[in-house]
Amino acid sequence: MSSLDEFARQKLGALDQAHLRRSLVPTGRYDNLFVERNGHRLLSFSCNDYLGLGQHPALKAAAIAAIERHGVGAGASRLVTGDHPLYAELEQRLAQHLGTEAACVFGSGYLANAGIAPALAGRDDLIVIDELSHSSLWTGARLSRATTLTFRHNQSGHAADLLSEHRARHPHALIVTEGVFSMDGDRAPLPALAALAREYDAWLMVDDAHDLDGSARMDVPIRIGTLSKALGAYGGYLGASQPVIDLIRNRARTLIYSTGLPPAIVAAAIAALDVIEREPERLALPLAKAQAFTRAAGLPLAQSSIVPVVIGQADAALAASRLLEAEGFLAVAIRPPTVPEGTARLRLSFSAAQPDADIARLAEIVRTRILRNA
Ligand SMILES: *Cc1c(COP(=O)(O)O)cnc(C)c1O
Repeated sequence: MSSLDEFARQKLGALDQAHLRRSLVPTGRYDNLFVERNGHRLLSFSCNDYLGLGQHPALKAAAIAAIERHGVGAGASRLVTGDHPLYAELEQRLAQHLGTEAACVFGSGYLANAGIAPALAGRDDLIVIDELSHSSLWTGARLSRATTLTFRHNQSGHAADLLSEHRARHPHALIVTEGVFSMDGDRAPLPALAALAREYDAWLMVDDAHDLDGSARMDVPIRIGTLSKALGAYGGYLGASQPVIDLIRNRARTLIYSTGLPPAIVAAAIAALDVIEREPERLALPLAKAQAFTRAAGLPLAQSSIVPVVIGQADAALAASRLLEAEGFLAVAIRPPTVPEGTARLRLSFSAAQPDADIARLAEIVRTRILRNA
């Protein structure tokens, strides 16, 4: 066996031992509720399509029309010839939706996060980041080569201590967090972090990938989000002032050196904004469903459409996921390194169309058969 294959096998063996090996499971999604896996039809609590827009007829029609008009691929980077006319429309609509001066669309949320911090901070600068921030935010922090210090999850007091001790030694500083945390569903203390940003002349960067309405956040100058989750399409974006957006378009490598998004996807994202603006009441449904669930399951009241059911050990979380699968629910187990050691969990995400009766049954099973044994 080659040393490369031997290396791969050893790594995989270690993952197997720790119940941390992952595999791809072919999953069919043919409507906005159910998935098909291993020949079973399961009600999904593991999709991030919170508003059910991925299957919305208006998005499908917009995507098909864009393919007919513009073709399938963008053909080049946006800075060369890939900036098809739908981009300008989407960016203008996003800026309007966010209440920012301008917006810039990236190939994905991950690419946005990998590209933005390195364009704003360099080797001499400081990044103060919440310890539970998404992998893509860490990628951006590392690529920037700035001094990166971690504050305890949602503890703005700890961030204040770090800034007070280190800020003066660096020309620029970024404070980085998620608006709604992707694996815990809790919310960052944004007013306190914005106050710190003012006090220490630091720039607050918030990833709102899971904040459904991305409602105006006046005090946040760097607002990142995704088109891939609640908006049912694909891509990432930054909302910011015009000078910041212009700088990003000149400096973010993940924008400059990557092909533009397919026109169909950009058209679908525009159609998603149309639906949300026409039917704003949709935005409240996932949280209402999540709260009905936490009340019935005896868990702390949900703060967002994401509810963690923390189990502890990875194998126990896998067993809980299998138990729910046998009952007709999909709730994928989330294990380290996605979450800290010893906090493997089911991460439930609630979406607008899930029937209340099924949510009640899920809560009953979680309360009596999963949490009682955890
Ligand atoms: C999903 C996610 C991303 C990545 O967005 P994609 O568009 O899926 O690449 C970034 N940040 C957070 C917090 C996320 O949950």
